[in-house]
Amino acid sequence: MSEIHDVLVVGGGPAGSTCARALVAGGARVAVIDRADFPRVKLCAGWLSPAIWDVLGISPREYPRGLWEWHTAHVHFRGKDHKIPCHGWFIRRYELDDFLLRSCGAELHLGVNAKQITRDDDGLWRIGDLRGKYLVGAGGTHCPVARMLAPPRPRRAVGVQELELQTTEQIVARTRLGANGEPELLLFDDVGGYGWNVPKSDWINVGCGTLDANKVRDAWRYTHDHLRTAGHVPAEAEPELEHVKGHSYFLFDPAHLEGAQRDTALLVGDSLGLAHPITAEGILPATVSGRRAAEAILGGAPASYPTRLREDPVIADYRRVAGLVGAAAKLKKRVPAARPGKRDSDLGRKAVARGFAWMFSGKRLPGGRLLDLVLGNGR
Ligand SMILES: Cc1cc2nc3c(=O)[nH]c(=O)nc-3n(C[C@H](O)[C@H](O)[C@H](O)COP(=O)(O)OP(=O)(O)OC[C@H]3O[C@@H](n4cnc5c(N)ncnc54)[C@H](O)[C@@H]3O)c2cc1C
Repeated sequence: MSEIHDVLVVGGGPAGSTCARALVAGGARVAVIDRADFPRVKLCAGWLSPAIWDVLGISPREYPRGLWEWHTAHVHFRGKDHKIPCHGWFIRRYELDDFLLRSCGAELHLGVNAKQITRDDDGLWRIGDLRGKYLVGAGGTHCPVARMLAPPRPRRAVGVQELELQTTEQIVARTRLGANGEPELLLFDDVGGYGWNVPKSDWINVGCGTLDANKVRDAWRYTHDHLRTAGHVPAEAEPELEHVKGHSYFLFDPAHLEGAQRDTALLVGDSLGLAHPITAEGILPATVSGRRAAEAILGGAPASYPTRLREDPVIADYRRVAGLVGAAAKLKKRVPAARPGKRDSDLGRKAVARGFAWMFSGKRLPGGRLLDLVLGNGR
C-alpha cells in the first residue's frame, strides 16, 4: 500500500498541473494521474490571452517552447474582411501541457486511466494503490470525478473540430493571410460560432466551433471551403484536412459553480465547465480554477472553493459576459427579425467584428460593478 497523499489530481492538463503546482508550492504531497503519456495531443488552437502569465507565474520570455505573439487579428464577417489590432499569444498544446505538467513538482502517474475512484471508511480517496485526503477532478469534459459530482448542466456542450499539422515554413508563409502567428478568424453569419486558421511557423492550426454542436460538421465544411477558396491553406495539407478531429466542452454557466465542490472533492477546468461564454477560451479559466482550488485546499477550507472561484476577476467577468449573452438572447426573441432583403450596415458589421476581436485580447468588460447591478449578479 502506498503512502497517503494530501491530494490526488485526476488529469494533467492545464487545470490539473496548475492546481498541482500551487499545492506543491504550499507544501502538499500531490499525485497527478493522467491516462495519457505526455507529451500528448490535445485538440486546441493554442490561443492564450495576456492574463495567463500572471496565473502561471511565469513571463512569456521564460516560456521555453514555441510561442507566437500577435498584435493583429484578421476577422472575416458577413462577406467583409477586417484587420483589427489586438493582442495575444499562441502556443502548441503538445508543448505547453507537457511543460506545465513536468515542471509542477507533483508525483506523476502517466498512462494510468482513473476508472475506479472509491472512498475508504476513513474518508480517504482511492485510485488503484494511491490514497489521498483530497480529490481534484481535472480530467476535462469526460472527467470521472465530474461524473460523481454531476454539476448542473443547463446548456449542452459546444462542438469543435480541429487539426494542427506540420509542413514547412515556406509553404505556410506562402499561404497565410497575415504575419506569422496572426489568427484568421471567420465569424459565422449567425454569430453562432467561428472558424480559425493560425499559422505557427511551419505549423498551421485550423478548426471551428459552434454553440450548437449539431452544426459543427457543416461549419467545418464552410470554414474549409472558405480557406481553400481564399488560398489560405496549403494544397499540400488537403489530405490531412480530411481528418479533422472533433470534441465538445462546456462554456461557463453560473450554475456550474453549484457543483464545483462536494466535501473533499473539487472540480477544475473543463470538468466543471468554465470556458469563456463567447470565445470559448478554456486554458485561462482552467488555470485560474486550479489555483483557486489549491488555495481552498491549502487553507483547509474546501467549501470556500466555489466562492473563491466566483470572486476571481476572470470568472467574475465570465459571469457578466454570460449574463449579457443571456440578455441578448432574450431580446432577440422579443424583437422582430430584420426584414428579408435588408442589408447589414458596414458600421454594424465592423462593430461586431471589432467586438469579437476585442474579446480575443482577453480584456475585461468595462463597468464591472455597474454590470453586476444591472444583471443582478451577486444576489
Ligand atoms: C478544438 C479546440 C480548440 C480549443 N482552442 C482553445 C484555445 O485556442 N484557447 C483556449 O484557451 N482554449 C481552447 N480550447 C479549450 C481548452 O482546450 C480547454 O478548455 C482546456 O484544455 C481545459 O483544460 P483542462 O486541464 O480542464 O482539461 P484537458 O486539457 O482536457 O486535460 C484533461 C486531462 O485529463 C486526462 N484524463 C481524462 N480522463 C481521465 C481519466 N479517466 N483518467 C486519467 N486521466 C484522464 C486527459 O488525458 C487530459 O490530459 C479549445 C478546445 C478545443 C476542443
